[in-house]
Amino acid sequence: MDYLNYGCCEEGRFIKRVFPILAGDDAWTACVAITEPAGGANLEDPALQFKTIKTIARPDVDDYVIKGHKIWPGPAGWIERFQSENLKGHIGYWTVVSTDPTLGEDGAAIFYIPPDAKGLSFSNPYEKMGFAWSDENVDIYFDDVRVPKRYRIDTEPGEGAKLIKGYIMGLGRLAGAARLVGLSQAVLEICLDYTKHREIAGLPTRERSLFATLIAEMFRAIDISRNYYLSVTWQVTQPDTYGPPWSREMIAKFSAARSFAADTAKFVTNTSMELMGSYGYSYEFHVEKYMRDYKIVQMWLGGAHRDRLDISQGLYGPFKWGGFEEWAKKEKLIP
Ligand SMILES: Cc1cc2nc3c(=O)[nH]c(=O)nc-3n(C[C@H](O)[C@H](O)[C@H](O)COP(=O)(O)OP(=O)(O)OC[C@H]3O[C@@H](n4cnc5c(N)ncnc54)[C@H](O)[C@@H]3O)c2cc1C
Repeated sequence: MDYLNYGCCEEGRFIKRVFPILAGDDAWTACVAITEPAGGANLEDPALQFKTIKTIARPDVDDYVIKGHKIWPGPAGWIERFQSENLKGHIGYWTVVSTDPTLGEDGAAIFYIPPDAKGLSFSNPYEKMGFAWSDENVDIYFDDVRVPKRYRIDTEPGEGAKLIKGYIMGLGRLAGAARLVGLSQAVLEICLDYTKHREIAGLPTRERSLFATLIAEMFRAIDISRNYYLSVTWQVTQPDTYGPPWSREMIAKFSAARSFAADTAKFVTNTSMELMGSYGYSYEFHVEKYMRDYKIVQMWLGGAHRDRLDISQGLYGPFKWGGFEEWAKKEKLIP
């Protein structure tokens, strides 16, 4: 694990070490840690300007010292849990912090924390509804974790906020849309196959009008979701025309892509299960697993309601929610 001794930015050595890991044949995992006990969605609320972050990075000569508590990030945990025949290891934690919450966006920062950093500890994995094997979620405690200054990813005031909004939250939501479309497509294919072979009174169920119209609606929703997220993905490659990923306009589109694909996944998993009857409910056909799994892709990174608010922020923002000034004054975040 000697690559951990290299900095993120210094002469690009960290990238040079990590890139072969990412592009190689071995499977590794990594984690982005944002959510805190006081909330996940509020950290992603642009109106709050990252003032609610409670994990703090304090400069100390050539280092930063990080203190705080994250909940739910995954895959996360003690390093040995990620070393097996099929998994080479854990690369580390890209951790969202503030150097000073009163600075708002200028204080927001991202640090790379090695998975075996001194002062890092973890709870036992949570028990939860889905993603049982692919995502191990825990509390992460940062107890004066000391990292070199070069492990800070952002390089100037305000850049951390842009990276968090554009790349972690924004492109994270867009990637969620892709995941949800794939999930919905898989369920549609299961449903098409099942209803081809299941007969009612001598006719495949998918040739009966009730089934045929619902299958058509599933296809329509999936294809619209797919084409919309691919269109937004293309727009990401044209920042001169559409704006950078951290612009309110692009975040609105990432949020629209994710929330629409999530509504599609909800409709497709629910409808397929109904068309397949108890076979849809059994483990055998996996529809029940997809139904459990789509839910968190809809809810993480701020969730379905934040998606909708961020669409409005892109359309006619920025606006703050009522009570913001009173709250920020009480917390001594503004004079
Ligand atoms: C399986 C799983 C994996 C996860 N992986 C990660 C991970 O890798 N890294 C990580 O950092 N976190 C992760 N999370 C946490 C997840 O991102 C948060 O749970 C999510 O952002 C919502 O935060 P919360 O649970 O604190 O809910 P809350 O913030 O309490 O929100 C609850 C509800 O209120 C709404 N809401 C809250 N505040 C606002 C607001 N200001 N405006 C509008 N609506 C609002 C939300 O949309 C939500 O519907 C994971 C969670 C799960 C279950």
